[in-house]
Amino acid sequence: MDKLDFNGIKFGFHLSIAGNISNAPKEALSMGYSTFQIFVSNPRSWNVKAIDENSASEFKKIAHAFKKNIFAHAPYLANPSSTKIEILKKSIDLLKGNIDNCSMLGIPYLVVHIGSHLGSGYRAGINSILKSIPNVLDNTDNNVTILLENSSGYKNSMGSKINEIAEILENINSERVGVCIDTCHAFAAGYDIRTHDGMNLFMSEIDNGFGFEKIKLIHLNDAKFDCNSGLDRHWHIGLGKIGAEGFSNFFKMNKIKSKCFVMELPIDEYGDNNKNLTTIKSIIHSIKN
Ligand SMILES: [Zn+2]
Repeated sequence: MDKLDFNGIKFGFHLSIAGNISNAPKEALSMGYSTFQIFVSNPRSWNVKAIDENSASEFKKIAHAFKKNIFAHAPYLANPSSTKIEILKKSIDLLKGNIDNCSMLGIPYLVVHIGSHLGSGYRAGINSILKSIPNVLDNTDNNVTILLENSSGYKNSMGSKINEIAEILENINSERVGVCIDTCHAFAAGYDIRTHDGMNLFMSEIDNGFGFEKIKLIHLNDAKFDCNSGLDRHWHIGLGKIGAEGFSNFFKMNKIKSKCFVMELPIDEYGDNNKNLTTIKSIIHSIKN
């Protein structure tokens, strides 16, 4: 067990890289997180500014303490399931640029949203992603793994169901593709992970789909809206519809505790990262086995 872990569990946050990319690992260390996530390019831009040698070596020196528990998140603009060829091409370039930056920084994982078929239907979206992701993999560093993230199921979004992600992984068939599970998205997509039965069902779909080992990261977010809402609105731990009791049940699934947990939560009058970390720790502390 690492000294940064809490009861053997790795918690961290999505952190800002404003000012200097090394500010993120510095913040994570000073706050006592055992993992963290950052953007490695401007999240609102199709352009990727390459990381220079000096920034990279400074980052790596500080981030060394986190071993492989460092994650980058691709800009939301990237849509590897796009059925529009222009957007698909731009998405491929954006993802390649992000992997190049991960490679420079020694970040082993890039979280990627599966994206939207833009109304052309699920099969058309699958055709696109089975071209785009292998293209990205073929032209980038082997040391970086793509983690496809489950979606909330909003409108034309792909990958809200475990079997959809399993189909993509099976067809790409690469060691360099894993999965990131977002608790808010899973809940919004209809998986009632608040309950013992819901959690068992969710886990058995994972076991029968791509397999538990493929999960390298869990985005630990409460949900502002109800189960099956399809809405992707993250909310403070314990204050949303999953709630303290829901997360308590979630963590009763012991094997889940081996994963990294990154929270992507607002900082506002209802709370900040520190408060959310305290809340999740107290929830876990109060679990009676
Ligand atoms: Zn995400």
